[in-house]
Amino acid sequence: MTRSLKRRLAHVAARRFAQRSAPVFLDRAVVSFSFDDFPKSAATTGARILEDRGLRGTFYATASNMGRVVNGVRQYDAEDLARLSERGHEIGCHSATHPWLARETEDRILTEFEANRDHLALLGHTKPLRTHAYPYGDVSPRVKRHAGRWFAASRGIWPGLNEGHIDLALLRCVSLEPHILVRRSARDWIDLAVRRKAWLIFLTHDVTEDHSRYGTDPGALAGVVDHAIAAGAAVLPVAEALDLALARPREPQAETRLEGLADGRGLAAGGLAAGGLAAGGLGTGGLGRALCRPLAR
Ligand SMILES: [Zn+2]
Repeated sequence: MTRSLKRRLAHVAARRFAQRSAPVFLDRAVVSFSFDDFPKSAATTGARILEDRGLRGTFYATASNMGRVVNGVRQYDAEDLARLSERGHEIGCHSATHPWLARETEDRILTEFEANRDHLALLGHTKPLRTHAYPYGDVSPRVKRHAGRWFAASRGIWPGLNEGHIDLALLRCVSLEPHILVRRSARDWIDLAVRRKAWLIFLTHDVTEDHSRYGTDPGALAGVVDHAIAAGAAVLPVAEALDLALARPREPQAETRLEGLADGRGLAAGGLAAGGLAAGGLGTGGLGRALCRPLAR
C-alpha cells in the first residue's frame, strides 16, 4: 500500500470512527472565527476587527508558542492572552507543543492537553479551555476519544458546514487560505450557511498585510466579517456557538396546549404527549449542556 493511500485511509477512519454525534438546533446561521497557534497579529489586528463590530472570536493557544517567533511569525504573549480573555474572547486548547497527535502515545496526548492547561494557568489564564483544535488537523479515532474526555468539542480542518448531526470530536471548518477558497469563496460559504441555517467555523492564523501562507489580510478578514453580519448570521466564539447549536428549541407553553384541548383539537393530547416529550427534551437539553461543560480535569 502506498504512503498516500495509507494516509487517505487514515483520514477516512478519523472522520468515520469515534464520532460524538449530536443534533444541532439553529434557527439562523452562526459563523465563528478561530485563530490557531496563535500569532501576535491575530491577537491584535484580528481581535480588533471583531471587537470594532462588537464581536468576539476563538484563539486556540499552544503554550510553547508564547513569546516566540515560529516560522518567522511572531506569536502571542502573556499580555495578549490576558487582554483577549478580559474582552470576552474564547481561549481554546491547541496542545502544549503542537505535535502530530495521531503519531503520539496515549500518555503524550494526555500530557499535551494537561501541560497546555497548566502553562496557560501559570500565565494567569485559569478559565477552562472548553474547545480544542487539533494541531495540523492531525487526528485519529484514538486521538478523538482522548480529546472527548477533555473538551466539549474539537475542531479539525475538514472543510464543510456543521449542520444536522455534527461530530463534536471533529467539527468542520473552512480555512481562509486562498487555495482552500478557490472552489467556494468565504462569502459563498457564508451564504450557504445562511441558506441552510448552519454553523460555519472559519480558521486563520496571522492577520497582517504580509501574512504567511496560512494567514490572511486584515482587509480581507474585515470583509468576510462584514459579509457574515450583512447576511444575517450570528457571529460567536466556538464555545458560545456550540451552546447555541446544542440548545433544544423551547417546547410550546402549557397554555397553548390547553387552548388546543378547549377548541376541540383532540390531538391536543398529542400536544400533552409532546409536553411529555418536552420533559424528555429538557433532559436531552441537559445532556447538551453537560457536553458543553469543560471536561478537563
Ligand atoms: Zn496550529
